[in-house]
Amino acid sequence: HRTHEDEELPHATKKTMADHLRKYESLFTLTPQRMRMIVDAFEETLDKGLQKEGEVVPMIPTFVFGWPRGSETGSYLALDLGGTNLRVCLVTLAGGGKFEITQTKYRLSEEQKQEEGELLFDFCAKCLKTFVDSYLADFDLQGAAIPLGFTFSYPCEQERIDHGRLIRWTKGFGNPNVEGYDVAAMFRASLAKHNVPVELVSLINDTTGTLIASQYVNPRTRIGVIFGTGCNAAYMERIGNIPKIKHLGLPDDGEMAINCEWGAFDSFTHEHLPRTKYDIDIDQTSNKPDEQAFEKLISGRYLGEIFRLVICEMIDDGSIFLGQNTYKIEKPYVLETAFLSLMEADPTEELLTVVGIFTHFYGLETTLAERQFFRALAKLIGTRAARLSACGIAAIVSKMGYLEQGCDVAADGSLYSKYPGFPDRVHQGLFDIFGPKGNNIRTVHAEDGSGVGSAIIAAMTNERRAAGLF
Ligand code: BGC
Ligand code: MG
Repeated sequence: HRTHEDEELPHATKKTMADHLRKYESLFTLTPQRMRMIVDAFEETLDKGLQKEGEVVPMIPTFVFGWPRGSETGSYLALDLGGTNLRVCLVTLAGGGKFEITQTKYRLSEEQKQEEGELLFDFCAKCLKTFVDSYLADFDLQGAAIPLGFTFSYPCEQERIDHGRLIRWTKGFGNPNVEGYDVAAMFRASLAKHNVPVELVSLINDTTGTLIASQYVNPRTRIGVIFGTGCNAAYMERIGNIPKIKHLGLPDDGEMAINCEWGAFDSFTHEHLPRTKYDIDIDQTSNKPDEQAFEKLISGRYLGEIFRLVICEMIDDGSIFLGQNTYKIEKPYVLETAFLSLMEADPTEELLTVVGIFTHFYGLETTLAERQFFRALAKLIGTRAARLSACGIAAIVSKMGYLEQGCDVAADGSLYSKYPGFPDRVHQGLFDIFGPKGNNIRTVHAEDGSGVGSAIIAAMTNERRAAGLF
């Protein structure tokens, strides 16, 4: 059937798959020079966020004071509400950087991400209760509540560690009546309603958890990053360099972790990031137009959709799938970022994984030339995401002066841990920005910061409290 269509096109106007690829290469490729410009603007934005409240990148003080000592011990519950899953963990810190973890994972449905906020927190409380009932039946609690660290991976303004007002939902969540409210208080109400014998000690972001959990085992860690459904970073700042919390009268030379919420970089004004029309389309049809501009170019929630929009454009202009029924692939968000991973990782010469994805999920036949194009397109989108990620890391490195000495960047999230070549592309990006010194910055996979980090921070908080500190 394809040969028939091919014959009908006059030879001069017929674009080959290679012609198409060249066009997308120029749209999605980031030169080192462009990256350095982004880094400069990014660094300036990070500084601004530390000066005063209400900046685009909010640079949130977390009330996590300094690094763990490594000797924190005890058993803690951790609840991790992420972009895709809800996890309940029991973490036992053994000291000396050692820990054990037991966990149950639940996948959140799209409906749960939109239902009334109270229902979402009730669901969290119920899952926690089931976990406590089945795993802690043998614990002799002697009436004491079990300490709980809550990892809530959305931007929250904090006044203390056990409090956090949601600034805005991200990653497609839209539950009404949560934005603007203290999510720790909402969750406590759900816990009380369901008689769950736990005490919420600390509320943290996944990046802060990753930063702290990684430092617990690796003292070279300076930055924690998540490249998953969303994307963000945290690092440790000198309190004297956070002008917006001066009024608290904390010692200037103390340290506090900052949750950057860098996914918001370039939101609203869109002056620095190279957005294609596909990116703009995703942004404008999202539940939060103009927000999370940086995140929308990088995170796992969006990469598959960027790819799909390119495919749809090519279907519309008759470049692919002529004569085939394409309705299945024309539905928003049906092409997951995991498929880009699979396509890039396809080990067969015939690209049989790509064949499988298109026939099985969308009922579409593909030629080898098309499959090679799809794989190359996935690579362009995945590489752009990694290089932009490098820009964010470089901005913190450069702001904090970590380049000469070098440091480790603790990284987690599905994109970082599952997307083939993502870490290498981030490193290549750092090299393109900084030259050979970029090699001083290593990213290291940090396993489960949102669970273990939450437990360590709960332990640090209890110790501070016992010592009568804020
Ligand atoms: C959220 C951050 C979070 C990141 C990674 C973003 O959408 O705003 O709080 O750290 O996703 O999960
Ligand atoms: Mg997570």
